[in-house]
Amino acid sequence: MKNEKAKKAAAAVCVLSAVFVVAFLVTADIFHKPLRETDKYSVAMGTVITQRLFSRSDASKECADIDEIINTLENKISWRKEGSPIYSLNKNNTAGCDEELSEIFSRSKAVYDASSGAFDITVGSLTTLWNIGEETARVPDENEIASALSFVDGSKINVSDGVVTSGKGQLVDLGAVGKGLACDKVREYLEETDINGAVISVGGSVLLYGENEETETWSVGVRDPRGESDEYMGVLSVSYCCVSTSGDYERVLRKDEKTYHHILDPKTGYPSDSSLISVTVVSSSGFMSDALSTACFVLGREKGERLLSMFDAEGVFIDSEKNVFVTPGLKASFTLTSDKYVLSGEAQ
Ligand code: AMP
Ligand code: MG
Repeated sequence: MKNEKAKKAAAAVCVLSAVFVVAFLVTADIFHKPLRETDKYSVAMGTVITQRLFSRSDASKECADIDEIINTLENKISWRKEGSPIYSLNKNNTAGCDEELSEIFSRSKAVYDASSGAFDITVGSLTTLWNIGEETARVPDENEIASALSFVDGSKINVSDGVVTSGKGQLVDLGAVGKGLACDKVREYLEETDINGAVISVGGSVLLYGENEETETWSVGVRDPRGESDEYMGVLSVSYCCVSTSGDYERVLRKDEKTYHHILDPKTGYPSDSSLISVTVVSSSGFMSDALSTACFVLGREKGERLLSMFDAEGVFIDSEKNVFVTPGLKASFTLTSDKYVLSGEAQ
């Protein structure tokens, strides 16, 4: 009898072991299946979107979902999209405001305050006056600039009880944060999927998510601000973050042998003149990397570095003399690859 029980127990152990071995082999097989890459290119938010997803199976559906997420966001936050809350706000100085928009306004206000108004989403009266990047771009006269400047004041945006209001005549422009926000939305989506890794580039903002075949570290080129659009002056090796660049080459107007760029100084009404030609910011938040790169571009290097430290972000600053300054937390991750630029040891 005892012998019989022992035999049954031994048989059960054998079966369980076999199940375990099969399960282990199946799991091991899944993990050894190489990651495959799915790429997609599209156009939204007035820029090119490139997606590179790494997954164990085809990710075409996820690529299509990401396009949709970005289009939906654009329809919500673009002042150009008739029917968007921002379009209504600019038309009526009031609009319905859900939790997501309310957060956009409060984070924008935080960067407005910390940058002493160098970053200001009510810059819309100026951006629409200059229209840099559009066919109708022109250099306004001083009176026009003075008049547009009188509407620029980020402290006048108010959110309460699901309604946002702005000062009379104010125009909100979220162009400095939209692309970074898109990266945040895509990351939230990816976290709900089986996608292992992704590089999503939305204009000047890039999301680095998860792992690629070898590692969780991704190499991101920092564009050469005086080179062609595919030329880099350095490489950042980073993981799980967003990288946004603001540069004076992105959108320009050339008139009478002068070049005017699209990042405006809310104090003067003219393209900012801080002697920086490019600022790249690395942050865990896409919104913040985007907002801060614009703010730092206007503020200049020293004030910009102080601003970054307030938001736990790091950056690469390039000035018009082609000196490159890297904040301490990013030094080990940045490699200069172009001999046209000089890496400065001064950034503290
Ligand atoms: P970015 O390329 O992210 O630096 O954003 C530039 C865009 O932000 C411009 O095309 C304008 O739509 C808007 N913008 C320009 N100047 C400012 C500013 N000082 N603060 C906030 N937004 C700005
Ligand atoms: Mg920006």
